Amino acid sequence: MQDERIQQLILLQSRDRRLAGAKNELDQMPNSREALQKRIAIESDTLDLTRKSILEVEARCKKIEGDIAEIESRVTRYKTQQLQVKRPEEYKALDKEIASLIEQVSEMEDEQLELLEKIESEQSLLSAAESPLQEKISRLETQLSGLDDRAVFLTEEIDELEQSYKASLEQIPAELLLAYKQVKRVAKRSPWVVPVENQLCGGCNLRVSNDVVAKALVEGQISNCDQCGRIVYFER
Ligand SMILES: [Zn+2]
Repeated sequence: MQDERIQQLILLQSRDRRLAGAKNELDQMPNSREALQKRIAIESDTLDLTRKSILEVEARCKKIEGDIAEIESRVTRYKTQQLQVKRPEEYKALDKEIASLIEQVSEMEDEQLELLEKIESEQSLLSAAESPLQEKISRLETQLSGLDDRAVFLTEEIDELEQSYKASLEQIPAELLLAYKQVKRVAKRSPWVVPVENQLCGGCNLRVSNDVVAKALVEGQISNCDQCGRIVYFER
């Protein structure tokens, strides 16, 4: 059976640590939420950007189509004009103009073809990426709503833990509480009440002196690690 004083300290420490852990987790909640929201935004942006890029290329394609139609109607107009001109140099000039317009149309058609291929490849990329990305997004959204549930749970738990921690504080003898508070000031990280095993402190893992061991073995004595200051005890 463990020394009763050590048992009281261990109980106090366990409630203290659980309370601190729950508070810390609740404090971190906005950060966790923000991190998840950021990840969701990145995933949706990826989809949106691809969709937007496809729309832009489609718009450019349509514009080229309109330009081609416009040039082709000019060609038709020049050809009609040619039928009416009298002078051969005028006829030649129109011929030259028509040839250059036809050349332009051919270049535009090449560009249009390239754009259509681009649309096709981006669309196939999008359809391949869409459902895994959507799944990922909905998984992240589930996690996000899980955080809300967790926050509600933690708030209730903190209430309960605060009460049990308070009860421990009221029950523990004053000199034990003082010893506990002193250790918390010296050692920044929990645990503060640790077992000794093979003469090693369970907190700092360093060897404790024979005096510390001897003191820890005496019923009712509080013994502190001479390296880190934590309260040490023997498992019995
Ligand atoms: Zn130690």
